[in-house]
Formats: sequence, structure tokens, C-alpha cells
Amino acid sequence: MLAETLETFRRRLLGRRFSLLQRRQRVLADEQELLAEREPDWEDVAAAKTAATVLESLSEAERIALGRIQGALDRIERGSYGYCAACRSKIEEERLRAVPETDRCGACAAAAAG
Ligand SMILES: [Zn+2]
Repeated sequence: MLAETLETFRRRLLGRRFSLLQRRQRVLADEQELLAEREPDWEDVAAAKTAATVLESLSEAERIALGRIQGALDRIERGSYGYCAACRSKIEEERLRAVPETDRCGACAAAAAG
């Protein structure tokens, strides 16, 4: 895969991870605001919401999604991104554009889905 293409996928994955965490952080901030029953002091809110708190509050689905995104970013680091974890063939670029965190080619994903 071209370095440029790989970089595009890396940015998309980082973007997905960021928006997932940010969405959750906002939910936590809103909850805290409701509990406090006062105007939010955004500095307090930001300080209280550590990365660990955000991670703990993730739903099962968000955790799985985040794990897949992280796994894909790790594969980019290791140079194995874009190759199927099951059959080692190249994953179709069109498929990667649709699901950048996937580690299965179309055929293996279809086989796994039954
Ligand atoms: Zn495969």
C-alpha cells in the first residue's frame, strides 16, 4: 500500500477514535452538570474527566469499536495493516475505505459471518 494511502487510513482511524472518546466525554460532562445542579465550571469538568474515567464509562460496543481502531493503528505501526489476519492476502482497498479498522478481507469476513 502507498505510504500516502496508509497515512489517509491512519488519520481516519485517529479521527474515529477521537470522536468516539469525545462523544463519551461530553456525556460524562453533561451528567456531572446535572448532578451538580449548577452552571458548569468547564475547568472543573475537564479536570475531573481524566482519560481513565472516560475509558471506564465506555459501553461494551464502544469498547469493542475502540479496541478494533487501536488494533488497526497498531497494525499500521507494525507494517501489517491492510493484510487479512486470517488468510494473509491483501484486504480490498474499497473495503478498507468503508471499514478502516477491519483485519479481514471480504471473503474471510463473509466466511466468519456464516
Ligand atoms: Zn482473508
